[in-house]
Amino acid sequence: MFDNFYTYKISQYENGIFYLFFACECVFFLVRFRRNSIKMVEKVIIIGSWPAGHTAAIYAARALLKPLMFEWFLANGVAAGGQLTTTTEVENFPGFPTWVQWPELMMKMREQSLHSWTRIETKTVDAIDLSSRPYKVTVADNVYETESIIIATWAVAKRLHLPWEETYWQKWISACAVCDGGLPVFRNKHLVVIGGGDSACEEANYLTKFASKVTMLVRKDKLRASKVMQQRVFDNEKIDILWNTEWKEILWNEKLMTWITVVNNQTNEEHHLEAGGLFYAIGHKPATAFLNGQIATDEVWYILTVPWSTKVLAPGSEEIIPGVYAAGDVQDKIYRQAITSAGTGCMAALDAEHYLQTLA
Ligand code: FAD
Ligand code: NDP
Repeated sequence: MFDNFYTYKISQYENGIFYLFFACECVFFLVRFRRNSIKMVEKVIIIGSWPAGHTAAIYAARALLKPLMFEWFLANGVAAGGQLTTTTEVENFPGFPTWVQWPELMMKMREQSLHSWTRIETKTVDAIDLSSRPYKVTVADNVYETESIIIATWAVAKRLHLPWEETYWQKWISACAVCDGGLPVFRNKHLVVIGGGDSACEEANYLTKFASKVTMLVRKDKLRASKVMQQRVFDNEKIDILWNTEWKEILWNEKLMTWITVVNNQTNEEHHLEAGGLFYAIGHKPATAFLNGQIATDEVWYILTVPWSTKVLAPGSEEIIPGVYAAGDVQDKIYRQAITSAGTGCMAALDAEHYLQTLA
């Protein structure tokens, strides 16, 4: 079979190398298979960041739960940083006697989370699956398994869905004065703000830096905003308020916003307002769509929690979903402040810790 002794030896040698390679491949395959089939199960995954999420992370990390946090990546189509990105100074967060600029406040919270050994992934959570334990959290193509979940995904600015809104979004129409108010298109124009809450007052005040005049359309005969914010609006000579007034029509002239028709909802009287831009400040909608109906919410989609806790319920029942908690604006229709969000973030981490102790 072999020409001579030497070719026989070489062939044996080649076979040896082949078998060695084959054995190595088998070992690598087994290692890969084992690593993929035994995925690490997280103790707690926090979905959402900033006051609620970071406070939860700090407490969970100090309880040695090694939290994994998913913070925004254009979550809900909104740029990074939570709702405080749409404001400037925060004057009511304890510990800052005058005020603090939101980026400083937010980045300090994030730093504190990292310092406490929270792992932060800048990715948006697409879905969760609560049908079996460990629960599953889907982020793009990856599925993470976890014993518990803290949901801290905020509420997103509502829109009025006016005609042409999509086409002219952030050109003539916006829901964020801080983000867009300084754009050239809004400078020295008469701008209109719709709404009567704290956001509307803050937006109107902020816009007076750039606008020639600002008019607020308030659908009731009073503002919903806090007294201090109301006073700032009343004291600002560049702001007018039209009470009991709603928008009716926007008039465009070759893609330029020119006038808005408004109507008094008491008298039905209509009139035109010259307008070079429109800002919505009509409240927020909680970011709960990604839950896909697996958790009970109220009629406007805020997560319902069990009183004096952050525990959540299965839809249409009184049954608590073990190991799942909600914190921050996503479960708060009433207070919706940075400090109350931080408070419920702390509660959620403590609730998760107590639950995980029962599994040990
Ligand atoms: P947020 O701070 O909004 O953070 C939620 C985070 O979760 C966001 O970063 C978001 O991108 C992320 N997220 C959402 N969905 C996902 C997902 N699927 N996956 C991963 N990440 C996700 N409060 C005050 O106390 N003082 C003020 O001066 C003040 N000014 C305000 C001004 C304005 C204009 C507005 C709109 C609100 C203001 N508030 C103020 C209220 C305050 O901003 C909120 O109460 C607070 O930010 C809520 O905290 P949160 O952690 O629940 O949500
Ligand atoms: P709010 O829900 O408090 O106010 C929404 C406003 O928009 C109300 O005046 C409401 O009118 C009006 N509105 C709602 N829908 C429409 C509509 N379709 N057409 C016309 N008007 C409409 O939301 P905000 O965003 O102002 O505030 C959210 C939370 O954030 C609050 O808790 C607030 O305190 C907090 N915040 C705090 C700030 C601060 O402390 N500096 C600054 C900004 C926000 P109506 O009253 O008739 O319902």
